[in-house]
Amino acid sequence: VRTRLQLLASSYRLRLALGYMVVVALVAGLWGWSLFGPITDAVIEQQQTHLQGVAQAAALVLGAPDVEITPAVAELVKGTDLRMTVVAADGAVLADSAEDPGSMENHSGRPEIRMALEGSVGRDIRESATQGIEQMYVAVPARYARERVALRVSESLERIGEIGAQTRRTGLALLGVALVLALIVGLRIATLAARPIERLAQSATTMASGDLGVSVPAESGALAPLASALSTLRTQLRERLGALETERTNLHTVVDGLADAILLLDGEQISVSNRAASDLLALPVNGVAGRSLADSGLPASLIAAIRDRLNPTRAGSTEVGPDPRGRSLRLTIAPLDRSGAERTLVIISDITDRTRVERMRRDFVANASHELKTPTAAILLLAESAENAAADDDEAQALAFVGQIGQEAARLRQLVIDLLDLSRLETPIVQGAVTDLREAVDLSLSAHSRAASTKGLDLKADFSAVENEDVFAAADRTDIAIALDNLLANAIAYTDSGEVRVVVDATGDIVKLVVSDTGMGIPTEDLQRVFERFYRVDRSRVRDSGGTGLGLSLVRHAVERAGGKVSIESATGEGTRATITLPRAR
Ligand code: ADP
Repeated sequence: VRTRLQLLASSYRLRLALGYMVVVALVAGLWGWSLFGPITDAVIEQQQTHLQGVAQAAALVLGAPDVEITPAVAELVKGTDLRMTVVAADGAVLADSAEDPGSMENHSGRPEIRMALEGSVGRDIRESATQGIEQMYVAVPARYARERVALRVSESLERIGEIGAQTRRTGLALLGVALVLALIVGLRIATLAARPIERLAQSATTMASGDLGVSVPAESGALAPLASALSTLRTQLRERLGALETERTNLHTVVDGLADAILLLDGEQISVSNRAASDLLALPVNGVAGRSLADSGLPASLIAAIRDRLNPTRAGSTEVGPDPRGRSLRLTIAPLDRSGAERTLVIISDITDRTRVERMRRDFVANASHELKTPTAAILLLAESAENAAADDDEAQALAFVGQIGQEAARLRQLVIDLLDLSRLETPIVQGAVTDLREAVDLSLSAHSRAASTKGLDLKADFSAVENEDVFAAADRTDIAIALDNLLANAIAYTDSGEVRVVVDATGDIVKLVVSDTGMGIPTEDLQRVFERFYRVDRSRVRDSGGTGLGLSLVRHAVERAGGKVSIESATGEGTRATITLPRAR
């Protein structure tokens, strides 16, 4: 653009200068042409008059008596370019200063001679028959030896032509000088005139190259409206671009703020991608805009799923995964233009968490149903057996079956209690709840004292570390009760002899509850998993303990929702030690 504008400006200058030159050439040419003819005519006229004077003077000389004509004629034009001829009344040449009169033809036919013989002055310009060059002739009547003769003086026009040529040369030289001056002056004026145009062109060029900060010079005169229009254009452009930029940034922020990955496809070309796309799909930080699907770095399974829905485009969602990073994704395809289906919006959401929760829920329902089914089936079977024993009057056997029915019913009840506790722990926590740990431990111990004494176990609480201190935990008392009850139940259930002890401790902002026993312990390889729902170390143990496999998961759930932690240390045959830490309340 720049060079084209410059070219335009320079050609504008040249055109202006050339215009000047044409005007000067026309004026000078017309002037020269109008003067040249009259000047030539005047010179000829002047020369003819001169020749006439010479002829008349010579006629006087010839008229004198006893003149010898040939030497007189020669003498009269001696030392000049003139030629003198004397012609008799019959046209015979009597004397000539240049030729031998004998060799010359009869001159009666020459117009100037004829006129002179008739008594007036004759003039003519023609090519000389004898010399072959343009001649100017002037003839006057004269007398020689009392006879009427014509005396003619002639001169070559060559000289006059030379004067004309000289005049023409000078004129052309002057014209040349005038043209050069016109060119110089024209260029100078054009430069002055072109400068503001070039300034504006410069501004326009800078604007066109994208720099809208450029100042537009304020011009005066005819260019003022153009300059102000350019300036307004720049301001408006800047404002619009600013508004567009703001809008773009807002849109970008919104798109980047979305949790779902967004890809805008032009055919298979990615034209827009957001931050979530980079995070979720482990794509380069500066996005994949500009790349094609194939080399975007997306997992192959995802590309295949996108392509599957692109050709032909089918709007809607599918689930993909788990991908190599173990995540489940939901892919939603939304074609943007109904016609060509060229542009497509692809939304990819991470549904890993949701999928996991759903799976856990499914597993839980299956496990819980299974756990409920087992004692129920046992009870039905035992009831049938008791009935049969009663029919056979085998009272002892019947009573044994009834006893077992009681055990299965107790297990069922425990399962229902645990499930109720579990659903209770799903309800929102009570904010600002405070529990006195002395009270909670005493209450829990008294609830389990009968079970402990039945097994001959020593069940006791140890508050020695917190003597004379209040020990309050920032937690809901029912949550603490659920945790303590389950830990104590396990300790008593999996200990055959020895003691079960609860130690209460407090350090800084933390309160600690340690439940330890001298029981069978937990094999190291199972320690990791005992907190899982329905996980049991050894199914055969459970028969006797009546455990549901939910106890420790309830403990962890109850403690963690109060902001605390629970851990278990144990080894086979060396007892078990469960530690709960909770934030302290003052
Ligand atoms: P359950 O209701 O079966 O006791 P829990 O979730 O409370 O289920 O415990 C999971 C498993 O951990 C139990 O099946 C048991 O084998 C083992 N366990 C828990 N507490 C103790 C303990 N104090 N001593 C030995 N084993 C334990």
